[in-house]
Amino acid sequence: MAKAGSKLWQRPASEILRAGPGTLVAELDRNGTPGFSGAKSDGTALLEERGAVLSGLQEMLYANGRSGDSRSVLLVLQGMDTAGKGGMVRHVIGHVDPQGVDHAAFGVPTPEEKRHHFLWRISKRLPRGGQIGVFDRSHYEDVLVVRVHGLVPTPVWQGRYEEINQFERTLVAEGTTLVKVAMFVSLEEQKKRLAERLDRPDKYWKYNPSDVDERALWPAYQEAYQAMLDRTSTEYAPWYVVPCDRKWYSRLAVTELLITALEGLDLSWPPADFDIEHEKGRLADA
Ligand code: AMP
Ligand code: MG
Repeated sequence: MAKAGSKLWQRPASEILRAGPGTLVAELDRNGTPGFSGAKSDGTALLEERGAVLSGLQEMLYANGRSGDSRSVLLVLQGMDTAGKGGMVRHVIGHVDPQGVDHAAFGVPTPEEKRHHFLWRISKRLPRGGQIGVFDRSHYEDVLVVRVHGLVPTPVWQGRYEEINQFERTLVAEGTTLVKVAMFVSLEEQKKRLAERLDRPDKYWKYNPSDVDERALWPAYQEAYQAMLDRTSTEYAPWYVVPCDRKWYSRLAVTELLITALEGLDLSWPPADFDIEHEKGRLADA
């Protein structure tokens, strides 16, 4: 970690944000900056610096993928509307070479998707070796919006927590490092962000009248998020709980989580699969 940055983080984001038995969604300070003592200006400056580190690591992952390494990273972004999932993709993932990124957004299932098991559409978008996959919403919608709106019978969504755990266990065993980020915006901040969408022509496209109706279901969503953390934060695929009222913090935190995940792969540059000296000689004569 950079010198200034290491002073500003009192504890690594991967430790402080990791969901545990004591994580209470109802008590989370969504305006907080856990583990980070700097101000916004420190955070935005550090984001640039750390974005460059992330970019270097991603290039190494990509290079290894090209050499046959089957490992990958999957960033799962879950959060209520306006939590900042799109901005996360632009400002965090924007630091890395788009060639190495596989981005998938999951909306209301299509009629075809509805005819299949809920993990069908997810399985089709998993990252290949060397890639960073990014899920803007995910299989977790099937225990969030689906649970809150009762879109399937209760025993069906109840069974999904364990199905998801089994699914993710297999993914991890096959070489995917999961970085699951639960993004929490406060009810008040959401109101501000929705109001902004109504005030700015460049934001109308993000506004969906049903977002206002969803606000009435806020408590049910909070319960569903709590159950998700309680039942699917595993040793092999833990959740990270990120306060999102301050966008600069959430972006910095997720950058750190990705860096930690990539560093955990212990990557190095793949060796040449040709005779370097021989090639130098050939080039000199060419
Ligand atoms: P947005 O991300 O703002 O484009 O909205 C996508 C919408 O799709 C959200 O309202 C999600 O709740 C909804 N959605 C995503 N997955 C599912 C699902 N499996 N079942 C029902 N609705 C979903
Ligand atoms: Mg939306």
